[in-house]
Amino acid sequence: MALLSVVLPAYNEEQNIGNTARTLGELLESCGIDYELVFISDGSVDGTFGEIQRAAAGNPRVRGAEFSRNFGKEAGIFAGLELAGGDAVIVMDCDLQHPPEVIPQMWKLWQEGAEIVEGIKSDRGRESLGYKLSAGLFYRIMSRLIRMDMKSSSDFKLLDRKVVKVLLTLPERNTFFRALTFWAGFRTESVTYEVQERRFGESKWSFFSLMRYAVTNATSFSTLPLQAVTVMGVISILFSVILAFQTLVRYLTGTAVEGFTTVILLILIIGGFLMLSLGVIGHYIARIYEEVKGRPKYIISRTTENVPESVKGIWKKP
Ligand code: UDP
Ligand code: MG
Repeated sequence: MALLSVVLPAYNEEQNIGNTARTLGELLESCGIDYELVFISDGSVDGTFGEIQRAAAGNPRVRGAEFSRNFGKEAGIFAGLELAGGDAVIVMDCDLQHPPEVIPQMWKLWQEGAEIVEGIKSDRGRESLGYKLSAGLFYRIMSRLIRMDMKSSSDFKLLDRKVVKVLLTLPERNTFFRALTFWAGFRTESVTYEVQERRFGESKWSFFSLMRYAVTNATSFSTLPLQAVTVMGVISILFSVILAFQTLVRYLTGTAVEGFTTVILLILIIGGFLMLSLGVIGHYIARIYEEVKGRPKYIISRTTENVPESVKGIWKKP
């Protein structure tokens, strides 16, 4: 029988683990799906890993690992993919904002031959205004840069083992799970779902962490900002040709005395462009620097007893 793995990254979610493990277990058992739940505690500072161990003690199909520190949700997802042994793997949030009722639909599409089943948000749920604004800005920037509709896509997906293998062989450290499945291709189906309200705990994203996430992902997934630097260069060259022409004409006709404003403006504009361009290039150099160092995406500090030896390594090379 085919095995379904559900990967659940969790950061300070002690209130959610038990409930989520129970809800998913009951649902999947009632659907007759052979399953395992893989919880990854992303360096939580509360009792999340303890809760995972407790859930594992109560249900041998639950297993999990703990990171040595907070490595971010992306790392959590990839560690989960590494630990998952299923023929199909579903990635979802462990706060049940991704409704478990959608899982049987995803499973059915997979059985019918889909290799990726994308969860598409039909609604962003009742989130706070601040969150909506920052998330809205974030998705607009991202959609532009990556040329795909980020607004309704999410990390809630089912992946066939083939796709998981592809993702696990990617050498890069800065991954963007959501976009990588588009990049990978494969036969893709989608299901829509309504984002649920979080029952326990609170969202881990602030305005600044979302912006940081946007910039990191934009620079690791798109070279458009670099091309924008070229565009700025072309624009300033055009400008300088016009101004040079005007300046020369003034000089030759003997009216070239008051040039102060122009000089100040030019220094400011060029200075601004240069700094901005250096900043953009700097971001890419930072990404290259991180990639070149070749450190692992995450460090596992401990796992539940039932994790196979083969994946127990403390150093998980990506
Ligand atoms: N998460 C994580 N590491 C982090 C931040 C979040 O593993 O550094 C997990 C979190 O526990 C949850 C999921 O990612 O399962 C989504 O996070 P959250 O619910 O805070 O985001 P939101 O639903 O508000 O977008
Ligand atoms: Mg959430």
